[in-house]
Amino acid sequence: MQELLGRQIVMGQKDWENCNKDCFSGRPAIIVKERIFCQRCGSSQSISETKLPTGEHYCPVCIKYGKIKSSDYLVTSNPKVESPQTRKIHFNWQGKLTIGQSRVANRLLVNFEENRHSLVWAVTGSGKTEMIFFVIKKCLEKGGRVCLTSPRIDVCRELYPRLVEVFKDENILLLYGESEEKYRYSALTICTTHQLLHFYQAFDLVIVDEIDAFPYEGDAVLRFALMQSLKSIGRLLYLTATPPNHLLKEITGEFSIEKLPLRFHQRPLIVPEKIWYENWSSCYKNKHKMKKLLHYLKELLVNNHVLLFCPSIAYLKKLYTKLAPFFLQGELTFVFSEDEERKEKVEKMRQQKYRILLTTTILERGVTFENVSVIVMGANHSVYTKSSLVQIAGRVDRKGEFKSGRVIFFYNQNTKAIRQACQEIKGMNQLAKEWLKNEMSMVPKSSNA
Ligand SMILES: [Zn+2]
Repeated sequence: MQELLGRQIVMGQKDWENCNKDCFSGRPAIIVKERIFCQRCGSSQSISETKLPTGEHYCPVCIKYGKIKSSDYLVTSNPKVESPQTRKIHFNWQGKLTIGQSRVANRLLVNFEENRHSLVWAVTGSGKTEMIFFVIKKCLEKGGRVCLTSPRIDVCRELYPRLVEVFKDENILLLYGESEEKYRYSALTICTTHQLLHFYQAFDLVIVDEIDAFPYEGDAVLRFALMQSLKSIGRLLYLTATPPNHLLKEITGEFSIEKLPLRFHQRPLIVPEKIWYENWSSCYKNKHKMKKLLHYLKELLVNNHVLLFCPSIAYLKKLYTKLAPFFLQGELTFVFSEDEERKEKVEKMRQQKYRILLTTTILERGVTFENVSVIVMGANHSVYTKSSLVQIAGRVDRKGEFKSGRVIFFYNQNTKAIRQACQEIKGMNQLAKEWLKNEMSMVPKSSNA
């Protein structure tokens, strides 16, 4: 029974009727009124379009998690009534937080104790993960249950070994779409946001890393799943380098916002250079139009390797074909989401085996390369949001000794996203300067949103 605590399973009507109600609670999977309302994914659909020949209704939105009908129940085990047992947690971390990190980590502990939700707005390359170790430990010590979730599978996979190392005695569960591991009860779960659909009032603390990333961003089902997975007394902790404006608005008054403007190495973020490029979108058509790109590449390649961001796969391929003759074989390559060699190419770029890597927005976040500059072809293209531009700029000067990386935004229209991205980067640098000027002697106030 403990095994199913907080886990939500689908049961047919008969099974539910035969179920021991002392041990399990159930609620109808779908509420049928003027429209149907799915209690698993939160979506509402028209009655006529969801009707089955049996007269029942089903939810088409979450069907990929298994079909649920209006006769089904969502069943969870009843929690034990006793208050949670405090535990001793084996905490195995010898690292040292920077002063900025340590202040945010402390704020998170205070927010947790005082039952507040938190949003950590920490610039790219500031080292977010270390800051959450302490609040995870605190929650586990109190007998609580923690979920660390992210919209991105690769983030979950990277977090898992780090958490296993720090919390050596915890039997951490890692769940994602194709993961081999079967569900079991665990006080510390790492999973993709999709997996949250299988939980109901399970967690005392849910930490969402990269809350603004695809596919969570803008997905009402995942948002519903997140809220359902949290206990009514539970706390949320969002981590992001680039909170979208709508999110900041949405959490106003409910979340404490903890900003960390300093990167781990304390150097400022690289401010993008906005370069007008009239013909960027058709530059692959002739040498004359390509001149500007070639000029900047030549300049950057003296000291750097270059990540060249393209707004679409079609554009990337055309540009690659035209650029290739200007370089030696093996000096440049490209990568995109369905590329079978994606992993290998990214790894080779890390080892600085290519001089230029053409990429789509798939490499806008979550990757660290040393010694790179970035060029964004058509920063005004609608594929680039403020957040993605800030993330892309954040690929430069993340670590290592090399400090001369540059960020070039080629554009032919000054969009709101470009303006806001540049403003946000400069704003964070200003804040960082103030923090450093005060030599961190003053505790930066957390601004209640
Ligand atoms: Zn549904």
